[in-house]
Amino acid sequence: MSTTIHHFIDGQIVEGKSGRTGDVFDPSTGEVTKQVMLGSADEVRTAIAAAAAALPGWSATPPAKRAQVMFKFRDLLMQNLDKLAEAISAEHGKTIEDAKGEVARGLEVVEFVCGIPHLLKGEYSDSVAGGVDSVGMRQPVGVCAGITPFNFPAMVPMWMFPVALACGNTFILKPSERDPSTPMLLAQLLIEAGLPKGVLNVVNGDKEAVDTLLTDPTVGAISFVGSTAIGRYIYETGCANGKRVQALCGAKNHMVIMPDADIDQAVDAAVGAAFGSAGERCMAVSVAVAVGDEAANSFVEKMAPRVRGLKIGPYTDSAAEMGPVITKESKEKIERYISEGEADGAEVVVDGRGISLQGYENGFFVGGTLIDKVTKDMSVYKDEIFGPVLSVVRAKTYEEAKGLVIDHEYGNGAAVFTRDGDTARDFVRDVNIGMVGVNVPIPVPVAYHSFGGWKASLFGDHSIHGMEGVRFYTKLKTVTARWPSGVKEGAVFNFSAGSDV
Ligand code: NAD
Repeated sequence: MSTTIHHFIDGQIVEGKSGRTGDVFDPSTGEVTKQVMLGSADEVRTAIAAAAAALPGWSATPPAKRAQVMFKFRDLLMQNLDKLAEAISAEHGKTIEDAKGEVARGLEVVEFVCGIPHLLKGEYSDSVAGGVDSVGMRQPVGVCAGITPFNFPAMVPMWMFPVALACGNTFILKPSERDPSTPMLLAQLLIEAGLPKGVLNVVNGDKEAVDTLLTDPTVGAISFVGSTAIGRYIYETGCANGKRVQALCGAKNHMVIMPDADIDQAVDAAVGAAFGSAGERCMAVSVAVAVGDEAANSFVEKMAPRVRGLKIGPYTDSAAEMGPVITKESKEKIERYISEGEADGAEVVVDGRGISLQGYENGFFVGGTLIDKVTKDMSVYKDEIFGPVLSVVRAKTYEEAKGLVIDHEYGNGAAVFTRDGDTARDFVRDVNIGMVGVNVPIPVPVAYHSFGGWKASLFGDHSIHGMEGVRFYTKLKTVTARWPSGVKEGAVFNFSAGSDV
């Protein structure tokens, strides 16, 4: 009998009543293991009402008290690490180690907001005019919502709600319908940590739930992480409905390998960066641009046996380095891109199509794939594939390699591998990319810095977590105050010369 995952509203699990459900798979076996309720507009509105009712009390709670809930939540995350990792891997398919890694990255955001009293300290200017002082303070936006993707069911929600809650907002999370169990566990842990009911709500669902969040006037801000096509829609619809929106989207991250780079180091870096989590990371490296034939030949020669040797298996196999991809459709899409690259004239050096694992013949596995001699007009280069596929593009010069990074539609991450400081500095300064690495393949910022891309990888003005997150989830209020004892010559009502404010 399969389990059904419902919603978490006003501090408790609430049975879904929409009558609509989605299948949740074990991607290793291809079997449906659970059903997730797909919330109706009415159910979303119930969650919004719970969040609105909880807002006055929570926003008035002193930041230091809100931080105490986060301290406790952090402890509970650590105590429940194994349980959370199991929940992630069972529905996503990534290895247990990878799942623990993602919880650890989310936990860092919780640790960051344990310092929220300090982060919310305002600005003060004494005597901006005679007897007049000015204060800048940041206040919560109100009811906020988050819409999250399948690939990090713990970390991405934790990029959002810990910051939003610590800033004094209440929150409605609409997680991915592919792996909805972990966010439900996180919500329960927060209640155990002392969060008042209604402050964090989780509504499972699809477009109907998302559209309700996008249009309901009570929701003040929307954070989205997912694909570019949906992100663009979320940004445009949310903004048209008067909301503050940040939409973090798709990617095609390049790793430039200069002739002077340590090729062994670059190969080590590329194996983890391209194939970890089966390439289903928005910061995965999917293009290696080798400058000069010598660097390209050496890179491909050393990379091929590593890709061929990747140990693929279900998450229950502790020796597995890479699990399946999320759905059958995703497997088919990835394999289609490999075929298109081949048809376009690229050389498939290691081919991950059509693999079958004994005992897991129906699993959504794609083997590690290395494609050489990819050019910029090919679909395998242009589009986000979101699978274990690394394309190698051969550039003649550094300028040509940098041009590829600059001209690409996406701008999430990019890295340069070189021993030369001048080249590294030029790359860092010139590329139109949000997160740049120097001899670091996945330059994911730590929690107290901010995460976000440029170009089609982010719509909106704010990156996520770090101080950008605090700014996104707060509104600035500037107070100019004069007290009666400061008024010397009567009130001034205009802006004319001689006015003292
Ligand atoms: P997705 O866009 O399909 O789904 C994301 C969310 O949007 C889900 O909650 C989903 O239910 C909802 N959604 C889907 N279709 C919708 C529609 N028509 N209307 C309204 N809502 C809809 O993304 P995914 O496949 O779950 O995740 C993979 C994508 O996320 C990749 O493109 C990846 O690059 C991106 N991603 C980006 C970042 C980043 O920080 N830039 C991080 C992680 C993932």
